Amino acid sequence: MKKAELIRLKISLDKALEIDEKELAIQIKATGFECKKCARCCRAEFGDNTVVVFPSEIRSICEKAGLSRDDFVKPTPSEDRDSKGKIHTFEWVLKKNSDCIFLKNGLCEIYERRPHICSTYPFYLLDGKLEVSECMGIGGNISNQESLELAALLKKRYITEIKESIDLLEKFKGFTPSGSGSVCVHDSEGEHWIQP
Ligand code: SF4
Repeated sequence: MKKAELIRLKISLDKALEIDEKELAIQIKATGFECKKCARCCRAEFGDNTVVVFPSEIRSICEKAGLSRDDFVKPTPSEDRDSKGKIHTFEWVLKKNSDCIFLKNGLCEIYERRPHICSTYPFYLLDGKLEVSECMGIGGNISNQESLELAALLKKRYITEIKESIDLLEKFKGFTPSGSGSVCVHDSEGEHWIQP
């Protein structure tokens, strides 16, 4: 099972590395986009504003904001438990005050280091194909250069997501109550046992 999933992910990674950014940019340009700076994607009242963050993104935000991990992330909510009742989950999410904790006066406090999912919203790649989330900016005027830059970011995000899954799976040892703490977060760097 694990071996088959790793093979599937590695095939996806090979395909992701071959994605033609210029073709992707043409699709983005045809869709159209212009950020309205409404911050709806950061706020709770307009839908799910969950932001999953990977270890490299967490480190980058720590450096930028002078924070430690537990100041701004928490384990992804999960009901999965091992034989001793300890919770297991995959990856981390940004903390919220209903809105994202980095949203201040309608602006992102960590804009230069915001996670991939934020810098590429409302676009994402699913099985290598461009998908678009709900957003007021869709259909807006985007230049060829901005389309190319967004395409490059999208490709980078997609490759990062697949590599994260590969590394996570290679280190994953199952839901075993092996650490101290009541919650185990599994990510590309292994197990992190914490006591929330
Ligand atoms: S990190 Fe910044 S861009 Fe991303 S949801 Fe939070 S406030 Fe919005």
